[in-house]
Amino acid sequence: MAMDVVVLGCGVAGLSAAVSAAEHGARVIVLERAPARDRGGNSRYTSAWMRMSSPDDVSDDLVDLLVERGHGAIPPDYVDTTTRDVAAWPPNVRSYPFNDPEVIDALVTNAPPTMHWLAGHGIGFTYYEPALLETGSVRMGPSGGGLAIVETLVGVAERLGVEVQYETTGRGLLFDDTGAIRGVRCWSRHRGGFDIEAPNVVVASGGFQGNVEMMTRYVGRHAHFARPVSAGGRYNKGEGIDMMLAAGAAPAGQYDMFHACPMDPRSTHPEPMVGVVNFGILVDDRGHRFLDEGTDRYELFYDEVAWTVMRRRNGLAWFLFDQRLLDVPNVRSRIHTDVDPVRGSSIADLAARIGVPTGALERTVRAYNAAAGPPGPYDVSRLDGVGTEGLVPPKSNWARPLDESDLYAYPIMCGSTFTCGGVKITKHAEVVNNDGDVIPGLFAAGETTGLYYNLYVGATSVLRGLVFGREAGRRIGELRAKR
Ligand SMILES: Cc1cc2nc3c(=O)[nH]c(=O)nc-3n(C[C@H](O)[C@H](O)[C@H](O)COP(=O)(O)OP(=O)(O)OC[C@H]3O[C@@H](n4cnc5c(N)ncnc54)[C@H](O)[C@@H]3O)c2cc1C
Repeated sequence: MAMDVVVLGCGVAGLSAAVSAAEHGARVIVLERAPARDRGGNSRYTSAWMRMSSPDDVSDDLVDLLVERGHGAIPPDYVDTTTRDVAAWPPNVRSYPFNDPEVIDALVTNAPPTMHWLAGHGIGFTYYEPALLETGSVRMGPSGGGLAIVETLVGVAERLGVEVQYETTGRGLLFDDTGAIRGVRCWSRHRGGFDIEAPNVVVASGGFQGNVEMMTRYVGRHAHFARPVSAGGRYNKGEGIDMMLAAGAAPAGQYDMFHACPMDPRSTHPEPMVGVVNFGILVDDRGHRFLDEGTDRYELFYDEVAWTVMRRRNGLAWFLFDQRLLDVPNVRSRIHTDVDPVRGSSIADLAARIGVPTGALERTVRAYNAAAGPPGPYDVSRLDGVGTEGLVPPKSNWARPLDESDLYAYPIMCGSTFTCGGVKITKHAEVVNNDGDVIPGLFAAGETTGLYYNLYVGATSVLRGLVFGREAGRRIGELRAKR
């Protein structure tokens, strides 16, 4: 049967596109690399918090953050140009890597109807309860997390006649002589290589966090020490982004950046973060401190911690703390690893247990303790200003001495949550080429699109996947109706 749409990927972005296109009368096929039991990529494993204060309102800070963190080095005349209607922009502005106002506006405007659409398919919502020092804006998420969205939308898609082909990988885009999409080159273990013809393709196959070659190509040295946080991320090997770039798509998003978190390498928890590293100290496998652990609130600093750990020898560090931290109410809600910390009755005992040189660790902990503020409980409600004196690197906040007779340590590695390099899209999720024009029939949504620069805007990736996936499906329906 001839298809109208091929969707690559079965996460929130791909499923939103598939359901929405089918609701608009299109015949849709979804290709998913994973087996059915593990479908849905990162979306399957995320809590899926969204920067929304209710189904009707995005958070007050959403637009400002997407603008502030929405570019690298944008020329001033391009900024002036963006006050004009997008149709009047020169091609080089349309293809430039920055978050253009129309796309941000589309995200914000389409978020509430997208939430109501989800609710119409049976998704309920819940609200995030900040723990410890988190001060970010209100966050809303689906009851049951991303898994609920994946499983619900797969069911809806199937009822609408969408076929999902598992263990099938999209490997290349097919074009006709006019440069319009005509299908996808696929591969599956059972069928080998084959083509699916369709005039529309939605590339929603996630980022490249599961591909060490692309991670190294874009992120650089030591990228092989970063591991996808969730099992879902391991399926995201970047072909979707590669095939769009090969077709002339304009790159967008910060290619050398990925959203990262400090996590316990021993754990199989789907998000084994250790979200308290700003309270104790971090040492590398030689026993040396290497950054100011108290630089800022965890939520503004944890990417930086993870990237820095990735670049240490062996991509590994140890987070040292004592009972003082475990006494903080709710602290366990910020430590997701399911493996206990290593415990030592002296610095030497701990050093032996974690395989760090004893002398170096003793010098590090003692120098830190001598420079730290007075003993006392951690004030987790603010940057407490209790800093070290004369220590290099310093610790600017929460510098309480550690109890040398009862130390704990978690191993820490860099978890890659998702990559930030993707392609430029219009407000309708159409892929823009390097000449500033839309590639006919080619759409992208979710992690394959470039929206983040400098620092990820927390709790927006699921939202972007849902909004632009759904919009891609709607736009395909609209264009089909006009033909
Ligand atoms: C532990 C964790 C917590 C997170 N928490 C949040 C949060 O609270 N809020 C938030 O906004 N974001 C969060 N994120 C990020 C967010 O979950 C993802 O960025 C988002 O779900 C991505 O959706 P997607 O549809 O673009 O990609 P994915 O959900 O990753 O789906 C991509 C799909 O494409 C498939 N695929 C890959 N390559 C191919 C191919 N070539 N052919 C066919 N199929 C292919 C994969 O198997 C996968 O099913 C979190 C991520 C993780 C891992």
